[in-house]
Amino acid sequence: MKLHLKITAAMVAVAIAAIALVAVTSNIIAGRSFNTYLNRQKELRVGEWQSILLSYYRQNGSLEGVQALFSYTRPGRGRGGPGFPGRGGVERIVITDQDGKVIGDSEGTSLGQRLSPAELKRAVPLSYDQHTIGYLLITTRSGTGIRSLEQQFRDSVLRGIILSGLLASLLAMSLGLFLARRLTAPLRELVSAARKIAGRQWKHRVTITSQDEIGELAAAFNSMAESLERYEDARKNLIADMAHELRTPLAILRGNLEAIQEGISKPTPELMASLHDEVLRLSRLVKDLQELSLAEMGKLNLHFQEVSLEELLERVTTTFAAEAAARDINFQVQIDKPLPLLSLDPDRITQVFLNLLSNALRYTPPGGLVSLQVEEERDFLHFRISDTGPGIDLEDLPYIFERFYRSRVSQSQAEGGTGLGLAIAREIVVAHGGRIWAESAPGQGSTFHFVIPL
Ligand code: ADP
Repeated sequence: MKLHLKITAAMVAVAIAAIALVAVTSNIIAGRSFNTYLNRQKELRVGEWQSILLSYYRQNGSLEGVQALFSYTRPGRGRGGPGFPGRGGVERIVITDQDGKVIGDSEGTSLGQRLSPAELKRAVPLSYDQHTIGYLLITTRSGTGIRSLEQQFRDSVLRGIILSGLLASLLAMSLGLFLARRLTAPLRELVSAARKIAGRQWKHRVTITSQDEIGELAAAFNSMAESLERYEDARKNLIADMAHELRTPLAILRGNLEAIQEGISKPTPELMASLHDEVLRLSRLVKDLQELSLAEMGKLNLHFQEVSLEELLERVTTTFAAEAAARDINFQVQIDKPLPLLSLDPDRITQVFLNLLSNALRYTPPGGLVSLQVEEERDFLHFRISDTGPGIDLEDLPYIFERFYRSRVSQSQAEGGTGLGLAIAREIVVAHGGRIWAESAPGQGSTFHFVIPL
């Protein structure tokens, strides 16, 4: 069942339930107030009859012959009562003497009989001068008159309720359909957008028309589409980059080897060393790719051991101090000693330092400064690697840890890397339970931070 039909059905069900509830309660209330009204009416009629009978008694000295009243008296008429209930009326009036023997009957059928004790109990005694001179019994004849009036009253209330119930259901249905269609329109748009994305139309987005949950869903969908588009771009770039990365060293190797074969070049130690460099570059690329795919599959085999970070950093900084000096870059190291022993995979953590420090050296011009700071903070170690290079554009900053992401600056540089270094560093830091991030402003250098829990 479609969502908009479900919403409509729910609205109609609520309308019907509400109307049913109103019907039951109003039926009960109507019945009660009708009974109260009847009782009040009956009391009035009893009062009227009492005064008629007492004045009859006063005139005649007894109640004998009251039956004659029913042939001409119409006590209710013209006095605001519901009309005198004579023969065939809705009320039956029975008058007895003080012993309970019937001496007046509006229907005339029980004259001379005695009222049963139960009837006598319901009858109203007629008193004159503190003597009971007789009894008066007013009964409503069932199935006619008042009772059927009550039924009519209840029926008309019920009819009104059923009619308004039908109208309310109709209203709920049309309003429900209208509202539900409006509510589900963005969902239908999302469905079609999802199909387009599935059909590789990566640029497709949905319009966000509201701030509610559906609006949030649309925003989430758009950001997902954006990620997918970026991922797809990265994938395409990867293939182009890989082809480029592989082609350059392979072309150099091939050209030189052919030149040697044809006797044009001599395999001098210098030439062999430069060819060896190209082979090393190829191996590095293949190794990076392998590491990253393992890390992303969560299969990076970490060999945790208690390590003295001071020794590890000593080795790393010695290597980089030499490289920095060769590039005429000032390299500063500032370590909060003594550092605690830490359980980590020394080879992988060394790799993080290599990736971050070689980036810093690569992007920093001669005469610049690269620094490494290590600080112990509450329950983690905080590493900072800063440089005075060109910095990173704000629009690149969120993506530099994604694999194969290379900023335009880096792409334009001949010695730009593969775009894998930071992605690998992040996987390693995360596998150690840590976090890595970068801060930078264009023209003001960059600082890479990472923390590892103690
Ligand atoms: P690459 O091998 O291209 O350096 P990385 O994953 O190491 O790949 O870095 C991704 C991108 O982040 C780089 O292409 C570069 O644009 C940017 N980047 C990394 N380190 C720095 C830095 N120290 N200064 C400026 N940009 C940097």
